[in-house]
Amino acid sequence: MDHQNQSSQSGIVIIGSGLAGYTVIREIRKLDKTTAITLVTREPGYFYSKPMLSTALASQKSPEQLASTNAEGMAAQLELTILGETDVSAIDTASQTIETSKGTIAYGKLVLGLGADQIRLPLEGNATDAVMTVNDLEEYAHFRKALEGKKRIAILGAGLIGCEFANDLVSGSYEVDVIDLAPQALGHLLPEAAAQMLQLKLSAAGVRWHFSTTVKSIDRNGDVLSITLANGSVINSDVFLSAVGLRPRLDLAKAAGIATGAGITVNRHLETSAKNVYAIGDCAEVDGLVLPYVMPIMQAARALAPNLLGQVTMLTYPAMPVMVKTPALPTIVSPPAKGAVGDWKMNAIEDGLEARFESSDGKLLGFALLGSATAQRGSFTKELPPILSSE
Ligand SMILES: Cc1cc2nc3c(=O)[nH]c(=O)nc-3n(C[C@H](O)[C@H](O)[C@H](O)COP(=O)(O)OP(=O)(O)OC[C@H]3O[C@@H](n4cnc5c(N)ncnc54)[C@H](O)[C@@H]3O)c2cc1C
Repeated sequence: MDHQNQSSQSGIVIIGSGLAGYTVIREIRKLDKTTAITLVTREPGYFYSKPMLSTALASQKSPEQLASTNAEGMAAQLELTILGETDVSAIDTASQTIETSKGTIAYGKLVLGLGADQIRLPLEGNATDAVMTVNDLEEYAHFRKALEGKKRIAILGAGLIGCEFANDLVSGSYEVDVIDLAPQALGHLLPEAAAQMLQLKLSAAGVRWHFSTTVKSIDRNGDVLSITLANGSVINSDVFLSAVGLRPRLDLAKAAGIATGAGITVNRHLETSAKNVYAIGDCAEVDGLVLPYVMPIMQAARALAPNLLGQVTMLTYPAMPVMVKTPALPTIVSPPAKGAVGDWKMNAIEDGLEARFESSDGKLLGFALLGSATAQRGSFTKELPPILSSE
């Protein structure tokens, strides 16, 4: 089927049906009900909330239940055309068209909401095909299938996603081993003392930690996965989940000659280096920042929608703390900006910890709140400088 000429030259085409793609569409529809919007996505086009993937066991949700609205429902609700299960293979910025597995589509404005890939570390052994990642609903459905009738899960990576899955899995009575090259959990987000508190709570819930090492090889012995660590120990497990970080999807942009850095480079109007092409979400780098979280997407979508409709609007980022969904010890973090100069100051309170990252003149530049201290989230957030201000 050839979709050329089906979407008008002046229409908006969005690639990607993740939170970025759908949030932009919602914001456009708040401002404008008539502009033609076409959503092209590899996924079926359903809407789901990705953060719920790492809490679905505890909240007793099946993968099917996580897709809150199907493609038809989204198309009707937001008055748009959805091309689901459609792969985009090229962007031609001169003719303003994209090549898809269902034909060529013309765009007036193009939004790249392509997301990011889970990084896969090169591992040795005869069972590397058993390495699982969870970065979308389909992968999560495979993961849940793999868990059926199984007991032991090994997770490579003690970052936000690794820790959240570890907590969710122990709450579902699985045995969980977590391996990380860093000497602590959430190495990019938490100071050591805070990480230790979280580790203790998760240990009490049943998580076994293997820090300062990594996985060397993964081999199959009958039904069992035998995971050899760089420090020589061997973990026997049934399922292996890799959660070692994300890499923005850049290939489409690069092949089209669109500027990229760590992400697809955009300015404060979310414009890429190509005319009429914009980027948002996990694939985008705004003013040097790649922030793969929900709050930045919400902010960016509110700025992008008016820009797409011709109302020049500049993106600002307030302080945007991230909640780590570890019910064993609820945690909220707002890490200091890269290169920020200051020191962590700890204040242990009953059932919690306040960690402040302060400059030498006492200005709050970042924080971590654990346990009962999470109640202070509002006042700490107010005290922080914005990440991207309007000046
Ligand atoms: C388990 C988990 C828990 C999380 N929890 C939190 C949390 O608690 N708080 C928080 O702030 N953040 C959290 N995050 C991060 C947050 O979910 C992401 O930042 C956000 O969902 C990214 O949305 P996105 O639309 O940019 O990318 P994605 O959701 O990855 O969407 C990308 C879309 O692009 C499509 N696509 C890509 N390439 C092509 C192509 N060539 N052709 C067609 N379609 C294409 C994909 O199919 C997909 O539809 C979590 C992430 C994970 C994995």
